[in-house]
Amino acid sequence: MRYRNFPMVPRIIFGRGSFNQLGEIIEPKRTHKDSPFIFIVDDVFKDNKWLTSRIPLKNNDKILFVSAEDEPKTKYVDQYRDEIVAEFEQLPSGIIGIGGGTMLDYAKAIALMLTNPGSSSDYQGWDLVKNQGVYHVGIPTISGTGAEVSRTTVLTGPEKKLGMNSDYTPFDQVVLDPELTKGVPDNQWFYTGMDCYIHCIESLDGTYLNTFSESYGEKSLELCRNVFLEKDVRDEESQDKLMMASWHGGMSIAYSQVGVAHAMSYGLGYLLGTKHGVGNCIVFNQLEEFYPEGVAEFKTMVNKHQVEIPEGVCKNLNDKQFDIMIDVALGLVPLWENALGKDWQKTITKDKLRSLYEKM
Ligand code: NAD
Ligand code: ZN
Repeated sequence: MRYRNFPMVPRIIFGRGSFNQLGEIIEPKRTHKDSPFIFIVDDVFKDNKWLTSRIPLKNNDKILFVSAEDEPKTKYVDQYRDEIVAEFEQLPSGIIGIGGGTMLDYAKAIALMLTNPGSSSDYQGWDLVKNQGVYHVGIPTISGTGAEVSRTTVLTGPEKKLGMNSDYTPFDQVVLDPELTKGVPDNQWFYTGMDCYIHCIESLDGTYLNTFSESYGEKSLELCRNVFLEKDVRDEESQDKLMMASWHGGMSIAYSQVGVAHAMSYGLGYLLGTKHGVGNCIVFNQLEEFYPEGVAEFKTMVNKHQVEIPEGVCKNLNDKQFDIMIDVALGLVPLWENALGKDWQKTITKDKLRSLYEKM
């Protein structure tokens, strides 16, 4: 047995209002007075002075407002990198992502692409990144993806939807300020929260499970249940708990893997642009045969929160489109192996996936 030796986020600050300390945290990392910090900020905050007035801009630091409407694409990552290189003489001192998984992934990918040549699509895969990126900081404003702690940045490229998984990908610093999540719309709070719930179920039910993953997964699941089943209001305590659930869920899958819902959700995302959180919900809703207890509990949460899970998204697709989704899903071998073991190909055939997608 060879064990993986994986890197962790080396610095983290947690607490309501900890965002106010961002300036003192990053300033010592400034490499040169003309070397800016670039803040990649979800454009949902463009007119939100409560948040933007606290971004500690100095010298030629810059805010780039980025839309989260589409998930990150390699061509946008390359474009942002090229713009930054063209505008500034010096390499930036740091890239700071403020937003959901979309902004966090952009920040990681741009930081890496400032020091690695070529296109980000060249690095989609495992351990293809060769050079350390510039200093990068993640500040989540919605909880669930675990992108703040993971070793990947998920990108849609010309040929595949796959992350840049590398030892250089994790953030150098994370700021966990649960107060930043207070304005998340209810349905989005649920979809992204369920991403975390599904991480736990897929990790805890997987064949890759070990005590490391289990200890984080169980804690995360307990926090998710508290937030989505036991509590009736979305209060400050829920914001704190869901933020830590996301962290622990990410830690759990770091040393195990996700499973069937994620594999199939990647297919939906690649073909239809379905976003990760809601895509996972659409898929998970139909996975009773793989995760009977998890899916039953998920349905209870859906009912309690009166959230609509879209159905019929695959209704009008043609054979070619189904094949594209199926190929993307089948390509994610470690996810299937984790879910069903080494012999997964005996049960997971193209026909099987087609029949599942047809239900969605
Ligand atoms: P997101 O970042 O796309 O945000 C979802 C929506 O919530 C957006 O409309 C956004 O503008 C809005 N929003 C975010 N914070 C808000 C706030 N405080 N107030 C009001 N609105 C707010 O969604 P997400 O679910 O966090 O992230 C999904 C992305 O994360 C996908 O691209 C997925 O591939 C990626 N992901 C990455 C990893 C990883 O390990 N790197 C893991 C899981 C998912
Ligand atoms: Zn996920």
